[in-house]
Amino acid sequence: MSFNKKSKGFSEWEQSAKMLGTCTVCGRAYGSGKMKILKNEKKSRLLHATCAFCNSHFMAMLMKMGGGMSTIGMVTDLSLNDSRRLLDKAPITVNEAIEGYKYINEKFSQAK
Ligand SMILES: [Zn+2]
Repeated sequence: MSFNKKSKGFSEWEQSAKMLGTCTVCGRAYGSGKMKILKNEKKSRLLHATCAFCNSHFMAMLMKMGGGMSTIGMVTDLSLNDSRRLLDKAPITVNEAIEGYKYINEKFSQAK
């Protein structure tokens, strides 16, 4: 893992991650070590955090864009283990979604 050192001894990755250090659900600080790196690419990082107080999960993508950093984040129901398990899986196709809908619809119709 390489960091581009900036002022005050923090890399731009660390400075961006610090902005995400507060739980968006309960507003308390995650604390050190609660944010894990799921994916570490040259120009982007995917982070996962679990709040020790309200047990909510948060995922964020940090990206180097031009001369600065950009972040996208969302609250998720994926635990750290779920996130790691599903990270490199192929996305669900439209046909799979339709098949799933039909399957559930048939099961629901039979239950009536
Ligand atoms: Zn919280």
